[in-house]
Amino acid sequence: MAVIIDGRAIAQKIREDAKRRTAALLERGIRPCLAVVLLGEDPASASYVNAKEKALAEAGMDSRDLRLPASTSEADLLALIASLNRDSLVHGILVQLPLPRHIREERVITAIDPAKDVDGFHPVSLGKLVLGQTGFIPCTPNGIAALLRELPITLNGAHAVVLGRSNIVGKPLAILLSRRDINATVTICHTGTKDLASITRQADILIAAAGKPALVSADMIKAGAAVIDVGVNRVEDPSAKKGWRLRGDVDFKAVSEKAAYITPVPGGVGPMTIAMLIRNVAEAAEQAGNLH
Ligand code: NAD
Repeated sequence: MAVIIDGRAIAQKIREDAKRRTAALLERGIRPCLAVVLLGEDPASASYVNAKEKALAEAGMDSRDLRLPASTSEADLLALIASLNRDSLVHGILVQLPLPRHIREERVITAIDPAKDVDGFHPVSLGKLVLGQTGFIPCTPNGIAALLRELPITLNGAHAVVLGRSNIVGKPLAILLSRRDINATVTICHTGTKDLASITRQADILIAAAGKPALVSADMIKAGAAVIDVGVNRVEDPSAKKGWRLRGDVDFKAVSEKAAYITPVPGGVGPMTIAMLIRNVAEAAEQAGNLH
């Protein structure tokens, strides 16, 4: 039976550290502040934004809550970002994705000052990650790496299989895990992968970020593997109060009987993502205050 990795507990330690850093900044008259931009009323996006703002407040940080109609034009959004880039009281800028279809995400992400890119999605941040330079690392991959470091397993030389190649999870995670400080051997799987199970079964560490509920079944994993479930999928459940519940990309019940370590959904990767965001905001504020 697998050990269930308590993402909330590990995240709490990181958040407490960010709180200490915030207290030190406050003594110097700097209050870390994240501008959070949300377009439209998508309930899932709104709940992510609320959770992030709550975590910022708990760390003693400020947030600038900028909720705009879904009809906001790309030009207006770019103008808002330009003004936040200039605003010395704002240390980080987060634009909640996905954006409405009429807005080009790439243009918006690229408009953010890399010094305020606490989500780590700017080409400069991703370029630094590839080159092994210091920069903002996307929060979900960084949170997964932090979780893995907490496990009593050897990462050096382990075979990590990343299921998914998105710009915000799969790709940066594969780069992070293959960096020398972690030193895993990484395989990336995606929709073009043939015989997925034959590859996932080789994984010492399997990270599922496909966005497909219960895609990973017990016969797809090696006994004793560490399984990290990034997926957050809403599935219908008439017995649940809201009529739906969250399900990961992993068949939790069956896989937990075969794996050595597994993250739950919710309570695994999600809290780590928020903790890493808070850490990045502390970092951005310290850099702005020339404390590095
Ligand atoms: P995405 O849709 O952008 O990418 C999914 C990737 O999975 C694609 O690259 C695709 O090639 C691959 N894929 C899909 N189906 C596959 C299949 N059957 N076989 C092999 N590969 C397949 O998604 P994303 O933004 O990377 O997010 C992935 C999941 O992680 C989603 O459920 C999302 O909600 C969740 N997520 C969670 C957090 C968190 O903090 N917990 C953060 C980001 C994303």
